[in-house]
Amino acid sequence: MHRQDKTLPKLIILVILLVPIVVLGFGSLKDIRYKIKAADGNRWNHLVGQGRIVRGEEVKNKITFTFDDGPDHRTTPILLNELDKYHVKGTFFINGHRFHSRTAAGDENKAVLRDIIRRGHLVGNHTFSHKDVTALDAETWKSEVQQVAYQVSELTGQPLKLFRPPFGRINRDNITSLSRNGYTVVMWNLDPLDWMAETPRALLRRSQRVIEENPEGGVFLLHDTNRNTAQAFPLIMEWIAERNARLAAEGRPTLEIVGIDQFINN
Ligand SMILES: [Zn+2]
Repeated sequence: MHRQDKTLPKLIILVILLVPIVVLGFGSLKDIRYKIKAADGNRWNHLVGQGRIVRGEEVKNKITFTFDDGPDHRTTPILLNELDKYHVKGTFFINGHRFHSRTAAGDENKAVLRDIIRRGHLVGNHTFSHKDVTALDAETWKSEVQQVAYQVSELTGQPLKLFRPPFGRINRDNITSLSRNGYTVVMWNLDPLDWMAETPRALLRRSQRVIEENPEGGVFLLHDTNRNTAQAFPLIMEWIAERNARLAAEGRPTLEIVGIDQFINN
């Protein structure tokens, strides 16, 4: 009896110490598994878990393209072809409802998501249903982020560590929880409001204006769900190339088109 009296408090302390490790450990063990899988041939792996906010202005004379609200099997593949043609890596901030099994075209959109990753583009979390996350209760907020992370990891074995808030609305609590989960929040500083453009030409003009007003470049926001965007993208790329040639001839700095990693690792 005397011996038990001494070991019992030790046991209680051990249990108290182990419970949080067991409870919290499951999430991170799963995470590590995905990271290991992703390390296999994934050139974006170094971006995982940066826990930062990217706004776009921090890198000069570079531009990176981001596409929100997809994937959409009707428009995203057109963009993928154009991105490949120009050897440009884009970042797709996806909504989970797009490839949910109960959603119309969910399977087609799922195939597009696989293709995005196969072609070496980056995928980020744009929440499951595209709600204003600052207005969500804690439980719904968690589920909006986790559902997408789970869908993507199940589908591709890739980690999902970039986050873009719908409507650009995000509060301190959201940022804290994203940081804790290793997400980098990617905002933008170049927005031609592609959803307002009535034609691809109109979107080209809007894009030209945004870039001329922000000649040092940054993070460019587009929506791959928008038909005009898919058609305007090659026009925007050609215009940037022509502008670069003109600037180079004048001995002025040009705008290099890069992947988001150049902004995050700055
Ligand atoms: Zn959006």
